[in-house]
Amino acid sequence: MRILVTGGAGYIGSHTVELLGRKGHIVLTVDNLSRGHREAVLFGELAEVDLSEKEKLKELINSFRPDAVIHFAAFIEVGESVKDPKSFYRNNTCNALNLLEAVVESGVKNFIFSSTAAVYGNPQKVPIPEEHPKNPINPYGASKLAVERMLQDFHTAYGLNYVALRYFNAAGADPKGRIGESHNPETHLIPLILKAAKGERDSFKIFGTDYPTPDGTCIRDFIHVCDLAEAHLKALEYLAEGGESCALNCGYGTGHSVKEVVETAKRVTGREFKVEEAPRRPGDPPILVADTRRIEEKLNWKPKFNDLEYIIQTAWNWELNRRF
Ligand code: UDP
Repeated sequence: MRILVTGGAGYIGSHTVELLGRKGHIVLTVDNLSRGHREAVLFGELAEVDLSEKEKLKELINSFRPDAVIHFAAFIEVGESVKDPKSFYRNNTCNALNLLEAVVESGVKNFIFSSTAAVYGNPQKVPIPEEHPKNPINPYGASKLAVERMLQDFHTAYGLNYVALRYFNAAGADPKGRIGESHNPETHLIPLILKAAKGERDSFKIFGTDYPTPDGTCIRDFIHVCDLAEAHLKALEYLAEGGESCALNCGYGTGHSVKEVVETAKRVTGREFKVEEAPRRPGDPPILVADTRRIEEKLNWKPKFNDLEYIIQTAWNWELNRRF
């Protein structure tokens, strides 16, 4: 297949581009490199284009003639979205609309969208099924949910087929160590723990130890980024075979607490580091764990790396030998 990937120079995007390239697909990455890294694109061409430039997008789509588009490019930091919602609605929602317009006007029929567990807000039920009410508690989640809604309407009106993949906590890195997570500033749990283990940070801070969970710290569903990449490939194949448009959770259905992640990281790295207890971070639900039945059934997706030690091992390997 010919696949156009926005945000292919980012963390999840670059692992997906690598998988698509390795499987023989023809990939064009579209990325403005505001957050992504040129060196992260291991296959295909990179077009440095901003999604606000709708005419350029149309030209690119018309000349590349993709069978499908995967749309990763977005801002992802929840705290930032609370402080600066306008940038999030502009980049994540308005630019997605530009892209969707260009896609339907160019006659592309299949679309995969990077959505998020943040569309659910505070879960009323765990594990969270896809039909759970969508009440995002921050602009990041709202900016993504708006795009899911557009997709439903574009499907009905223009026949655009889509899969919205709702990521839980993406983690880990390419087992060969070529690419991995590199955000600036870094706010995610596992990279921050590993920076403390490496000695790049003085300590690691646990945000909240008084949650209603067995050890008092938040519980998350960590999914290896290569399993997540595989879900995108399966979603492309599913749409190519005429599968119906849908939203699917991407996780393992297994929760790990922040303290458990810290202990596992100490074991994997063999390093001791200072761990401090800090107040809760606003906007963090106590538990986020996916109900994964729908993705397993619809895409026949089976996780290969459902092992927290392995996730942390690949992330640690990347942290010690990062190229960007
Ligand atoms: N967390 C933490 N210390 C940090 C960063 C994160 O205790 O320095 C916690 C955070 O409060 C949340 C969990 O780790 O409960 C996962 O946070 P992350 O930002 O990695 O992902 P999120 O679940 O927000 O998408």
